[in-house]
Amino acid sequence: MQGVVGIVADIQRSSIHDGPGIRTTVFLKGCPLNCSWCHNPECIKKEPEILFYPEKCIGCNMCDKGCFSGAKVICGKEMTADEVLSEVMLDKAYYKNDGGVTFSGGEPMLQKEFVAHLSDLCHENGINTAIETSMYIFDSGVLSKMDYIMCDVKIWDDEKHKKYTGVSGEKIRENIKKADKLGIPILIRTPIIPGINDTVDEIKNIKSFVMSLENAAGYELLPYHPLGEGKRAALGLSAPDFCIPEKEKMEELKSYAHI
Ligand code: SF4
Ligand code: SF4
Repeated sequence: MQGVVGIVADIQRSSIHDGPGIRTTVFLKGCPLNCSWCHNPECIKKEPEILFYPEKCIGCNMCDKGCFSGAKVICGKEMTADEVLSEVMLDKAYYKNDGGVTFSGGEPMLQKEFVAHLSDLCHENGINTAIETSMYIFDSGVLSKMDYIMCDVKIWDDEKHKKYTGVSGEKIRENIKKADKLGIPILIRTPIIPGINDTVDEIKNIKSFVMSLENAAGYELLPYHPLGEGKRAALGLSAPDFCIPEKEKMEELKSYAHI
């Protein structure tokens, strides 16, 4: 399996929000969903692409030699699993018992051969593995290599789910039920998007589903964050029309999500 190559969008070290402990997060390109509020729009297409930030352009006309001002940024490069492992190993001393590597994206399961091989390499080197997945793609062989799974149940109503993400939420829930049988802790999350899913009924429905799982590690609500808006503009995409939920609304919804 030497030389297995993935298309990597980014590698972020010292992450404390992508699973237990301190983690190195490997963002992989490509996603079968297209969430209207996506915070990583540069990870939706599998191919490498250029983000352009005009405010940073100094008009030097040196684009063919590479941009040194940060105005043109290429997202996505081919890396072998060994190359990624070398970066992951840099922080091994900080992972301790529960930290490690997290595969994220995009949808890491679109590059499942790469993820499976890298996960094996991590375990051979004593590094814990986690995955942030949409759960639109189910592969028990790859998922069973993970020590921890994180996935969203974004919207309960299937037509609404299709409208705002492009795919069926029922299929995702069926795949989560299959993953639950693998015996791996699964953290379920819901991004709260005002006007789309910020109702008590929505959270009650999703919480009931979470409670029906045997291996649920928790249920978290994440407020919409406009992080992706600047990146959408840099990709030439239109900006979404969402706002950050009010603190009081988040507190109310969290009181129904508590398990
Ligand atoms: S290299 Fe960068 S700063 Fe120079 S013209 Fe091209 S985009 Fe602008
Ligand atoms: S599943 Fe995640 S990466 Fe894919 S489009 Fe939705 S928010 Fe973006």
